[in-house]
Order: sequence, then C-alpha cells, then structure tokens
Amino acid sequence: MSSNRYTIALFGGTFDPVHFGHLRMALELSQALKVDEMRLVPSHQPRHRQTPGVSAEQRRQMLALALDGCDELQLDERELNRPGPTYTVDTLEELRAELGEEVSISFCMGLDSLLTLPSWHRWERLLQLAHLVVVIRPGWKLPRQDVDGSHGAVAALLEKHAGGIADLHAQPCGRLVVREQTLLPISSTHIRYLIGSGQSPRFLLPAAVLQYIEDNQLYRTAATGGQ
Ligand code: ATP
Repeated sequence: MSSNRYTIALFGGTFDPVHFGHLRMALELSQALKVDEMRLVPSHQPRHRQTPGVSAEQRRQMLALALDGCDELQLDERELNRPGPTYTVDTLEELRAELGEEVSISFCMGLDSLLTLPSWHRWERLLQLAHLVVVIRPGWKLPRQDVDGSHGAVAALLEKHAGGIADLHAQPCGRLVVREQTLLPISSTHIRYLIGSGQSPRFLLPAAVLQYIEDNQLYRTAATGGQ
C-alpha cells in the first residue's frame, strides 16, 4: 500500500473455545487487508450466557496458547478487563482515544452480525470510529435496499459507505468493506458438543488448546449442537 498510515484490525468473538476456523479467518484477513496488526478480542460474557464451568480467564488462556509463537495475530484483552456488558462502540472509543485520530482501525464481522447491526448499542457511531470489514461466504448475497425491505438500514449503510481495501489505508475510519472468504466448517458449539458427548475434537483446534481443555476438564457437561 502506498500510504504509511498504521492500520489495525480487530476480530471479536467469545472464543469458547478458540478453533482453527477463527485462526485461519483472522490470519487470512490480516494478509488480505495488509494490516500492521490483527487483534483477537475475546468478549466479556454476561454470567447467564457463560458456558458453565468455563471462565473468562480460561477462554483468555486458551487464546493465549493458540497464539503462542504466532507473530501475525495478537490478543487484545480489553473487553475481558472491563466489567459489565461488552459494547463494540465502547471498545472502539477506547482504542481511538488510545491510538489517536490517524491510525486506521477496522472492525471485522460476519454477514450475520452485520444484519443485526441496527440493534447494536450506538451503532451509528461505529463508522465514525472505525471501518467495518464484513466477511461473506463466496456466493452469498448482500441485502439490497430496493429488493429487501427488512434490511433497509443495513443496505443503505452499505451503499453510503462502500469502500475497498485501499480505503482502509487511506483513511482512519468510515468505510464498509465487503470481503469474500471461505469459512472452515468448524464451530465452538460443535467442539463443545463433541467433548460433552465423549468424542474427540482433535484437529479442529490447536493441540495446546485441546491439552488445556483436557487438563482442566472443560466442556465435559453434555452439550447440544451440531456444526
Ligand atoms: P459458537 O459456536 O459458540 O457460536 P463460534 O465458533 O461461532 O462460536 P464465536 O466466538 O462466536 O465462534 O465467533 C467469533 C468470530 O469468528 C465471529 O466473527 C464469527 O463469525 C467467526 N467465526 C466463527 N466460526 C468461524 C469459522 N469456522 N470460520 C471463520 N470465522 C468463524
């Protein structure tokens, strides 16, 4: 990229537990967007939504193990350190205050998250603080304002803020970039289900994370869920 603006991307999630789907996605995004830093940001979970027997600290430790020796991905613990609910807008406000006005910040999300955006806390503020990078599976369609009335606000946002990867390096915030990328068919739900039903999740997640799960006897209570 011609601009030498420092660029950071964030990839949020519960990572309960982290798996190769997350890690490949973050790495491929980091390379495709040519960012200087790609940070994984584990979210704080309200107590009633926590997986029983798995603490925020354990989710953090599993991520730290997964990222050990991986220079391309960093762990950003700010949401775990903040008491109360996790709001993306608060994370971005905090980062913007820390990094200043010129650093480019991109917040990455899946299409499913984008479609729920209008229900997010202070969502109109997000693009004033960061770019949004939306990952869609190859062949999937984005909502269009004229066709799909139910996602009108999102479609309008897509039209108004549409941008490309070069924009992430040219300005600090304000563009919505859509990126097609294949997702590995792995989910934390399925891994929890496998362990809960006595099956092995080996080769779906890093060996060190699996070892940690076994050492701490996590996810043993029978869970439901498929892919
Ligand atoms: P759960 O099954 O508990 O809902 P999950 O596997 O979907 O978990 P999350 O921690 O909810 O994982 O997701 C973190 C981020 O990773 C989200 O942006 C989500 O879209 C993305 N993600 C989840 N699974 C994959 C995958 N297989 N490949 C790429 N990205 C993924």
